[in-house]
Amino acid sequence: MEKIQKPRGTQDILPSEQKYWDFVVKTFERKIKAEGFSRIETPIFEYKEVFERPLGSQTDIVEKQMFSVGRKTDDNVEREDRYNELILRPEYTASIMRAYLETGMGSIPQPIKLYYYGPLFRYERPQKGRLRQFNQIGFEIIGDASPSCDALVIYSTYRLLKSLRLSRFIKIEINSLGCKTCRKEITQKLIEYFSSFRAKLCDDCKRRLQTNPRRILDCKEIGCKKIAEGSPETIDLACETCKKHFRETLENLEILKVPYELNTKLVRGLDYYTRTAFEVKIIDDAGAGSIGGGGRYDGLSERLGGGNSSAIGVALGTERIIELIKEKEISVPEVAGPQMILIQLGPKAKARALELYDVLLKKGFRVFIASGKESLKAQLRLADKKEIRFALILGEREVFENSIIIKDLEKNSQSTVLLKKLFGKLKKII
Ligand SMILES: [Zn+2]
Ligand SMILES: [Zn+2]
Repeated sequence: MEKIQKPRGTQDILPSEQKYWDFVVKTFERKIKAEGFSRIETPIFEYKEVFERPLGSQTDIVEKQMFSVGRKTDDNVEREDRYNELILRPEYTASIMRAYLETGMGSIPQPIKLYYYGPLFRYERPQKGRLRQFNQIGFEIIGDASPSCDALVIYSTYRLLKSLRLSRFIKIEINSLGCKTCRKEITQKLIEYFSSFRAKLCDDCKRRLQTNPRRILDCKEIGCKKIAEGSPETIDLACETCKKHFRETLENLEILKVPYELNTKLVRGLDYYTRTAFEVKIIDDAGAGSIGGGGRYDGLSERLGGGNSSAIGVALGTERIIELIKEKEISVPEVAGPQMILIQLGPKAKARALELYDVLLKKGFRVFIASGKESLKAQLRLADKKEIRFALILGEREVFENSIIIKDLEKNSQSTVLLKKLFGKLKKII
């Protein structure tokens, strides 16, 4: 029969890969908890509107990347039809804001600091570095509109990348996108500018001129890039309040000693960003690779039917971080494997081995057992494969004598000890 394969755009994260995941997620969690953030986890799927309303119907995510998992579910017959389409979450922020509004987090003392990690889904054409199921780590601060909060989010991001030993290989680019008041005007000025070059823009950008003109700043086509270079700077067009906010954010970044670069052409893929936006880019990467980014999204709450809540956050791609760690050959801690293998030979020894296995684990030793294997050779081969140094061997004779053989597989030496002296002996040699 034909073997079944995994779906396109997914991956198996095998045991040999887990040390990277452990390193990234545990480092992240340790750092972010120390700053007073608490973990939130939202459902893997949500009503479509949770993403459609905040992201805007013109974004790639909503237009083509939604992973629909069902319509018109029975338990929601009382809801309007348009609510009934369920979507595998393509990002966390909208879900977290939905949860914030739904559970009344707004009525407890602000700001609320939340972090998350987990899988997300986008129906993209799979290619290198782009999966249909991928992972992010990230955090949000809701209920703080101050520029120092913007600087702190970027600071925490930088602090994390430093602990992951990646700060040398990345740069943080920052821009201001304007607010509710000045956004429209900025966009209008950009439309005017790009319209005068319409004929020279690529087909995608011609379309963007109508749907999402800011994305032209982001286009990878050389022709469009050249035109974008001469475009008006968003921060020059922004209102005075936005300018002041941005200036103070940068001042605070200097106080916090976070290196950054201004990039006045920086835009974010998602529609709900206001004011500060930033991206973590890989230095010297020809493809302008990025491991993630974030920004302020003061308008998101209102788009989800809430009041006016200011918020800012960041999301980093876990796979991209791991890729960079491997590429730069950063050593990550090995996950502690078993210290010993417990080998049993014969039925009586098998029973005694199970008893002993339980005691050894309870005493805190890390023990590997293959109770289905019969021969000494087969069990020793396993120890070798798993790079286990010590073997505890129980044969019929040892059971009879209440003893056990301790074999040092590295030194190829062995000794027999009485079972009652085993733990003391193990503590000495391990
Ligand atoms: Zn403004
Ligand atoms: Zn273009």
